[in-house]
Amino acid sequence: NGLHNKSEEFRQPASSRRPETSSAKSLMDIGTRRIFNEDHDLFRQNVRRFFQEEVVPYHKEWEKAGQVSREVWEKAGEQGLLGVMTPEEHGGIGGDLFSAAVTWEEQMYCNCTGPGFALHSDIVMPYIVNYGSKEQIKHFIPKMTAGKCIAAIAMTEPGAGSDLQGVRTYAKKDGSDWILNGNKVFITNGWMADLVVVVTVTNREAKTAAHGISLFLVEEGMKGFHKGRKLEKIGLKAQDTAELFFEDVRLPADALLGELNKGFYYLMNELPQERLLIADMAIASCEFMFEETRNYVMQRKAFSKTVAHLQTVQHKLAELKTEICVGRAFLDSCLQLHAEKSLDPATASMAKYWASDLQNRVATQCLQLHGGWGYMWEYPIAKAFVDSRVQPIYGGTNEIMKELIARTIVSQK
Ligand SMILES: Cc1cc2nc3c(=O)[nH]c(=O)nc-3n(C[C@H](O)[C@H](O)[C@H](O)COP(=O)(O)OP(=O)(O)OC[C@H]3O[C@@H](n4cnc5c(N)ncnc54)[C@H](O)[C@@H]3O)c2cc1C
Repeated sequence: NGLHNKSEEFRQPASSRRPETSSAKSLMDIGTRRIFNEDHDLFRQNVRRFFQEEVVPYHKEWEKAGQVSREVWEKAGEQGLLGVMTPEEHGGIGGDLFSAAVTWEEQMYCNCTGPGFALHSDIVMPYIVNYGSKEQIKHFIPKMTAGKCIAAIAMTEPGAGSDLQGVRTYAKKDGSDWILNGNKVFITNGWMADLVVVVTVTNREAKTAAHGISLFLVEEGMKGFHKGRKLEKIGLKAQDTAELFFEDVRLPADALLGELNKGFYYLMNELPQERLLIADMAIASCEFMFEETRNYVMQRKAFSKTVAHLQTVQHKLAELKTEICVGRAFLDSCLQLHAEKSLDPATASMAKYWASDLQNRVATQCLQLHGGWGYMWEYPIAKAFVDSRVQPIYGGTNEIMKELIARTIVSQK
């Protein structure tokens, strides 16, 4: 009957549809998820190979050094893995958001958090591309895409984190130049950075602090620009998180990024993408931890059977997989929305808060399923566990995310 035929028709294309992660063999399989196509799959293969060959073998060494090598940046540049979604006409690769997401996810799938590629490409580059002058774009973007200019963004100060309006770093006008003074802390890529976007007060008399903030491009080698310690962290061991100091740094007029006193507005525009990226990396990390744990419990013996034989363990795995797949569905929907330029800030905040909290719950439970070996640094789950901890903190803490979400709830009536 007609009804039957209709359902058959409906089923037909479904069989050729890309599987979602919930029905894939592994949560990290290539060729899955509706948001991607075959071009993305090919790209993912290359990115996966790059991380396996150029990052994994060196990561232990980098963890000891507290930073990655310059070579890995240049190699990533040669392979077209930096500035993936930066338009070609501006000196980027010209790919789409989904291709950029492939690079974020693959980095988490190899459990190597050292290279700050995502921050460089998809957090810092957009400021230059979206608000920079033609000259600034031409000067910085091609060498950033080549991995020859490493970038950072410096918002946080020892006395101002969540409350960015409390920033004290100050640039005073001197003729057409600016004189910059202040210091920043917790800056990702800070030690290796050749270029730093610095959030600075330029008008102390503005009607609100937010109206008196500007962004400046500060370059390595400028007189008075010093880098402090590479900070010793409990995780992200190969990541060069640093302090930065500015002592009477003379900046030419063309170091200003975008318009004077519009910095806070630019930050508000760009932060949703930063939050989406953190959220996507959080879910990817969950996918990695799940597969790592599945493999472990299937070979680990206890009471003459594998740990995976225990029903409580099976139920735990079922719960974990379900939660991760639910999270993935929301994240893919956010990626889709952002690709259409319609991801609103509150939804990006939901993704960041929920995915990074999930990552920490998954990390705790997956480590537990590894028993004592999970606590040993040589086991990947130990590294994934400590690396998870920062995700609810940076990019705006999860408490701040709830503030942003809540505001839209109570202001709607
Ligand atoms: C590894 C790492 C890398 C980082 N990378 C960068 C970077 O590249 N660039 C950069 O600029 N910054 C970076 N940060 C800084 C990060 O963004 C800040 O640490 C974060 O925004 C929180 O600021 P804070 O540390 O000053 O905490 P605080 O603002 O002092 O917060 C302390 C606690 O109070 C809570 N709190 C504060 N205000 C509220 C509120 N209104 N309601 C409820 N709770 C509140 C917070 O959620 C938190 O739990 C990095 C941090 C780390 C740890």
